Amino acid sequence: MSDTARSNFIRQIISEDLATGKHQRIRTRFPPEPNGYLHIGHAKSIVLNFGVAEDYGGHCNLRFDDTNPHKENVEFVESIQADVRWLGYDWGERRYFASDYFESLYEFAEELIQKGLAYVCDLSAEDTRAYRGTLTEPGRNSPYRDRSIDQNLDLFRRMRAGEFPDGARALRAKIDMASPNINLRDPVLYRIRHGVIHHQTGREWCLYPTYDYTHPISDALEGITHSLCTLEFEDHRPLYDWCIEHVSVPCKPRQIEFSRLNLEYTVMSKRLLTQLVEEGICEGWDDPRMPTIAGLRRRGFTPGSIREFCQRIGVTKADNLVEMGLLENTIREDLDQHAPRAMAVLHPLKVVLTNLPENAPAMLQAQNHPKDSAMGSRQIPFGSTLYIDRTDFERVPPKGFKRLVPGGEVRLRNAYVIRCDEVIEDEHGEIVELRCSVDADTLGKNPEGRKVKGVIHWVDAAQAVRAEIRLYDRLFNVPQPGAGGRDFRNDLNPNSLRTLTNCVIEPSLASAKPGDRYQFEREGYFIVDPDSTPERQLFNRTLTLRDTWGKAQGIRK
Ligand code: ATP
Ligand code: MG
Repeated sequence: MSDTARSNFIRQIISEDLATGKHQRIRTRFPPEPNGYLHIGHAKSIVLNFGVAEDYGGHCNLRFDDTNPHKENVEFVESIQADVRWLGYDWGERRYFASDYFESLYEFAEELIQKGLAYVCDLSAEDTRAYRGTLTEPGRNSPYRDRSIDQNLDLFRRMRAGEFPDGARALRAKIDMASPNINLRDPVLYRIRHGVIHHQTGREWCLYPTYDYTHPISDALEGITHSLCTLEFEDHRPLYDWCIEHVSVPCKPRQIEFSRLNLEYTVMSKRLLTQLVEEGICEGWDDPRMPTIAGLRRRGFTPGSIREFCQRIGVTKADNLVEMGLLENTIREDLDQHAPRAMAVLHPLKVVLTNLPENAPAMLQAQNHPKDSAMGSRQIPFGSTLYIDRTDFERVPPKGFKRLVPGGEVRLRNAYVIRCDEVIEDEHGEIVELRCSVDADTLGKNPEGRKVKGVIHWVDAAQAVRAEIRLYDRLFNVPQPGAGGRDFRNDLNPNSLRTLTNCVIEPSLASAKPGDRYQFEREGYFIVDPDSTPERQLFNRTLTLRDTWGKAQGIRK
């Protein structure tokens, strides 16, 4: 993409800050909370933060925002790192945890107390809420607001020492209970939490700082120049600025908000994604139907195409809902270019060729890519028994059907034209076999005057390899699952996974390894699943060849 196409309001701010000399070097950070796997929305933030750092010769830190230990764990820390790396980004030595700063954060809190800007408050959580007021009514001062500095210091130290139970006391900033911005009505900075084992600091702390207090100070300690976050933090910015204004941090990062990525037909909130996993609705965080990076990887999406998608959607302050077709078409463009072609039959129907000449070649040549000869060609076996797809034959064809019908002709891809002479049924009237004749003159060419419209794929029966193929569809039936307060589970698509256990694939695919991607001609793009073994070949369909969800056609190229 050209520089102008990539430009956005954040890049403009950064360019200006470099031009005016406000900053010599850009530093950004990607700050996930390790309480779930990363999803495609996080990819937008990753591509933005790592992307601007890369383009402006700066650095991007990976920082785990780990102030909420009971929902976090090391599995999530590790999956996040794997996913950022897979997307193609490198944080070098700059992996941090907000918990690395717990000691400094504590000292800054004492500094606020010393300056008369923080106090220990004994109101219960419920009373704290009641005192806070509403959007239309100012709050009221806590009865503990005017404790002396000494008393606050003493109580805060004893909070740290573990003298008080959970909820008994909290440290609050002393700002303004009448502020029109509720975030500034003496927000809580520290809470008591006994008995949690933090994945990084173990049992060292029974006092945990809030996100709003931790984030700005962590940014400042790391020398972050531009702290890029999503729009829901816009109202928190005054608090962000207040925190770095009143403690002795080395610099003053600037928070800039942009709109989150919302994508049709899926959900992105970690709470809902956790529910999909915990209730067994999906088979795990890396289920290919999940919008997680791990799920998209298993589904067959490429890191380059996800990055490209993030560039195409751009970065603005406007809330929007992006069409799934835009993501899928970006992936399709990439796979169309790079995935080698192969043949697989998903619903096999046996075809016996009754007149295959004795001297017919046992191996045929097939191009691996129609537009890229550098991808080479392969040999595919051809014999007198084949499989074609059940859906490529109709006894009574619907209008416009161009494939095989009784007495009709069709071309076998990379091979001959055949004609269907006989249809064989079992005792229930099920079609079990077709008897066909080949036209020996048609191998790889159409003799003059012959017009055969349909081309179908096939697999040689004698050397066919069995495979299990999973066909995925969108996880939800509606563009905005759970809209209007409905339970999002009511919007699940019951056909989001179809497993076909009886497929056949051409023998060149027998050696395909997990992660290999193919276009199965006429069927779509597929990837070998990580659980695939030579004994049990498993493929996941990434996407069909075309967008089958009509609505997205407008943006199809
Ligand atoms: P939750 O979904 O539970 O609210 P979160 O999305 O805030 O969590 P974090 O781990 O805190 O999850 O997010 C890390 C970073 O990714 C944050 O800077 C956040 O703003 C950004 N981010 C999260 N979701 C999106 C999204 N849909 N689009 C763009 N950026 C996002
Ligand atoms: Mg968050």
